[in-house]
Amino acid sequence: MRILANDGLDKKAVGKFIEEGIYVDTKHYEKDELKDIIKNFEVLIIRSATTIDKEFIDLAKTKKLKLIIRAGVGLDNIDVDYAEKNGITVTNTPNASSNSVAELVLGHMISLARYITISNITLRDGQWNKKIYTGTEISGKTFGIIGFGRIGKALAKKASALGMNVIFYDKYYKNDDNFPYLPFEEVLKRADFISLHVPSTEKPIIGEEEFKLMKDGVFLVNAARGGAIDEDCLIQALNTDKLAGAGIDVFMEEPCPKAALCNHPKVSVTPHIGAATKEAQMRIGEEIIDIVMDFNGKINTIAI
Ligand code: NAD
Repeated sequence: MRILANDGLDKKAVGKFIEEGIYVDTKHYEKDELKDIIKNFEVLIIRSATTIDKEFIDLAKTKKLKLIIRAGVGLDNIDVDYAEKNGITVTNTPNASSNSVAELVLGHMISLARYITISNITLRDGQWNKKIYTGTEISGKTFGIIGFGRIGKALAKKASALGMNVIFYDKYYKNDDNFPYLPFEEVLKRADFISLHVPSTEKPIIGEEEFKLMKDGVFLVNAARGGAIDEDCLIQALNTDKLAGAGIDVFMEEPCPKAALCNHPKVSVTPHIGAATKEAQMRIGEEIIDIVMDFNGKINTIAI
């Protein structure tokens, strides 16, 4: 069996496949090259950098490709229905990165509340802004989590341990043993900090009307998907007293996000690195080994 890991793969997972006699190519191919090269592989492993659309599937389906693995959570860069209709199984590794994303969100929150990001910029520029940077403790503040799945829940536990009062809204999950569910508007109205953990949405869930409901001086974090917040409204809210700060790991346009957002003095930005820890990548690698070995077993059984 031959695997193409187009957006990279943890070294241990590569080693394990080689041990098992499975060929792994970890070179990144851009779209045009990928369309040709894919005919040599049964398995394609991608992250968010590779998009699998109808056109790609039409080229791949007549060839060998049988399995696409998204090393991560969202499947929004893959046309899953069309792939599966054409006999290609699509799967992902949903659990591996929850803890890493939750830790990054807390990092953004503390960084904003205590002016850590902007201090790094201004102090390097020779400014001693000790009097300006009087921050806010996160302890004792109300923390509204929108989307209470794997990451939302992991974050709630950590934030609660740091003394925050967690409330949440989820479109489908409403009864939790540890944290109170509130309607969306109520979470927006009550929270001092808000963090989004919803799947990819067709249109933003935070726009002009939602910003109006929020308290003045709220902190907002998005480590879900770029499209979850209307970025023009976000920049507008940053330019007023509405937002005290925004922590952004995901953008509408990646890898070239809006300069007005990235350069805003009230933001803490990271280049979509929620899952980029050694531990998450190792766990993703382990999940991928299990998926591929299981798949390989099935292929061999069919062949016998
Ligand atoms: P999950 O499926 O476990 O949880 C998502 C939750 O959102 C579910 O409980 C669902 O009921 C709820 N939901 C769906 N639509 C909603 C809506 N419109 N409003 C409110 N709630 C809604 O997913 P997860 O593993 O917790 O991941 C959450 C998000 O984080 C995904 O968008 C994923 O792509 C993103 N993510 C980002 C990174 C990163 O690098 N920044 C890494 C991993 C995951």
